[in-house]
Order: sequence, then C-alpha cells, then structure tokens
Amino acid sequence: MSQSLIDQIDARRDSLISLTQDLIRIPTLNPPGRNYREICDYLAERLRNSGFAVELVRAEGAIADSDAHPRWNIIARREGTRPGDCVHFNSHHDVVEVGHGWTRDPFGGELDGDRIYGRGACDMKGGLATSIIAAEAFIGAHPDFAGAIEISATADEESGGFGGVAYLAEKGYFDPTRVQHVIIPEPLHKDRICLGHRGVWWAEIETHGRIAHGSMPFLGDSAVRHMGAVLSEMEETLFPLLATKRTAMPVIPEGAKQSTLNINSIHGGEPEQAADYTGMPAPCVPDRCRIVIDRRFLIEENIDEVKAEVTAMLDRIKAERPNFHYEIRDLFEVQPSMTDKDAPVVRTVADAIRQVLNTQAGYVVSPGTYDQKHIDRIGRLKNCIAYGPGVLDLAHQPDEWIGVQDMIDSAKVMGLTLAELLLPR
Ligand SMILES: [Zn+2]
Repeated sequence: MSQSLIDQIDARRDSLISLTQDLIRIPTLNPPGRNYREICDYLAERLRNSGFAVELVRAEGAIADSDAHPRWNIIARREGTRPGDCVHFNSHHDVVEVGHGWTRDPFGGELDGDRIYGRGACDMKGGLATSIIAAEAFIGAHPDFAGAIEISATADEESGGFGGVAYLAEKGYFDPTRVQHVIIPEPLHKDRICLGHRGVWWAEIETHGRIAHGSMPFLGDSAVRHMGAVLSEMEETLFPLLATKRTAMPVIPEGAKQSTLNINSIHGGEPEQAADYTGMPAPCVPDRCRIVIDRRFLIEENIDEVKAEVTAMLDRIKAERPNFHYEIRDLFEVQPSMTDKDAPVVRTVADAIRQVLNTQAGYVVSPGTYDQKHIDRIGRLKNCIAYGPGVLDLAHQPDEWIGVQDMIDSAKVMGLTLAELLLPR
C-alpha cells in the first residue's frame, strides 16, 4: 500500500469536508433540474485547478432539456505521462425533492461530529467529493501515472439519466476505446461492490366503462369496478407467482431477491380537485380508471415473458367478466445489468477494500436501477460498478447525511484502485 497516497488523502480531510458542503449548498433539485450549470461551473473551476481538461456538455434535445432548465454535464480528464487505461468516476449531480420531516437545513451542508447533513449528502454529492479527493491525492502522490483519469458529474440520474449519462454515452464518452474502467460512487457502503441492478418495466393499464348518473349506476358501467377486478386478480395470482421467482443475483435488501411489482398510482372517475376547492363532486359513474405498474425483474427473466404474464392475466379477466375492456401502454423499460465478478475493476476494488478496511468486499446488486444501464447498453462498456461511501437507506430521506470517516476510507479504496490500474509494476 502506498503510504504517500494514504498520507495525501488524510491531509485532505478539511478539503473533502468543504467540497462536500459546497456541493450540497448548490440545490440541484430534480425535477425540474435547477442549478445544473452552477454546479458544473463550480466543479469546472475546482478540476481545472487540479490539472484536468474540462468540458461542459449540454444535453440539447434530450428529454426535459429546455432553456429554462438546461441539462448540463461536466466531463474532466487528466492525462498521465504515458499511454495506459482510463479510469472514469461518474456521479450524478442532481438531487430529489426535500420532502417533509427535516430537522437540519437541507441545503446548509451542516457538519455535526462526523456527519455532514443535506439533501444529496449521501446520494451522491459525498461520493462525488470522495472521488475528486481520491484523484487529487493520487495525482499528488504519483504525478507520473500512466493512462488517464476522468471525473464526470451528470444530470438527471434521478429521472432516468436521459439528459446525463445516456446522452454522453450516445456521444461516445463511454466508448470502450476511450474509457476502460468505470466506478459510480453511489452510496452502497464503503466495503461493498455493486455489480449491477434488476430490470424495470413500467406500464399503464386502463379499464373502460360508460359514464352515467351516479344515482342510477346500473345505466352506466364502472371502470373503477373493472379495475377492482384487475387488482383482486393480481392479489390472487400475480403476486403469488412473482414471489416464486427467485434470483441468483446478490440483490439487497433480501426482499428484492425476487420479482416485485408496485402499483405506483391509481386514478379513476373525476379528477381530484385542488386542496383549496370547497365544492362537492358531481355524481357520475367513472368511465376510465388507470393504474401505473412498476415491475422489477431479474436477470433470469426475459422482458417479453414479463409483459406476457400481465397481458395473460388481463385476458383471463376479459374472458370471464362481461364488458371488460382494457388497454395497456408501455411507459419505460430497462434491462437488468450485472458486471462479472472477475472483471478488472471488480477485482481491483475488492483488493483495495481488503487492504484499506482489512475485510472481504461484499458483492451486491441494487434493487433499483442507476446510470450503469446506459454505460452497459449504450456505451457497450461492461467493466463498470457502483462503489462509494454512504448508507443507501438514507437516500431520499429527511436528514440525509454522509459520514466523513466513511468518505476518507472510501477515498483510500478509490486511490489504491487508481494506483493498481494506472501505475506500472
Ligand atoms: Zn444516486
């Protein structure tokens, strides 16, 4: 283990804290996508001062990109002194809404003991700061390194990554001829390597009825009652079926080691009125009811079979229930992704965890997706993991925080990984 590298990281503790605080203090809320340019400008200055060549890329024409809320991304690259592999750290710079229940200022970046509080502290501005400190310390200790280091901060991960990593991957930024190793510092815990994620299928199911006066429901046909039939069929057949589908993927937490389905929303009949509306509803039989389903599937499953399961269920109801009509519309889909345990970036990070933390790395798969999907599918780069400090359960919660010592330990793992991949032996 390079002592000078370890010393360089320990010496940057204050810099790590203030960098994390500064990033939290730029409220990059998504939606709608606020202050993306501001955070990219801040990072550009920081990384230029550390010798990186910096590019700002706006995802023009991507979903949600507009002049009011442009989707800005930053890619910084520092070349070594001779040819070699490129190691890329990718973090998303957007954060989700604050929500209720905070006892700290969500954009204050308050340091209390070992913890820094704020929206995005663990997901994932702490991880972004950690990767920057690791790179700066590594360059300080080993300025003669081979290859290149890249650091990117990208937009819109929380809303699918289309104005961020997907856009950059389409432009070739994750082409395997340019980048060989990718680490995404999402908060998976400092001693765990996340190999990938389950797949996703979102769809909207609509049942149809006929509007009539609510005092004479027999003259109409209730779309809500038809949807009730869908929900009870789900309870009786679909949920039990999903519970039997188990995966060999090391998904965490335990409950996500099977196929799952969430009913994301249900709407039927008259639209809900604003909270300040004081009138009464009008009596009508609902002629439309819609649900959005969020089905998470396993690497052992095929998306066509996943969809066929749901349509078969709906057709079963249709065969038995008079006047049952439905439509189903695909909204979104993501294939599962899982990097091989023997991939170079996995072996190197596992070795660094052993050296820094004196423990065996845990291997996990995320229940939900993150930007690895785009690097895998669009970039065609398979040598990619998520590894970073922080407690996953705190993501998107009130009083989100990141531990300073966890960030320091993680920075050492990242720094040693750079040393292993970019220093000739
Ligand atoms: Zn995240």
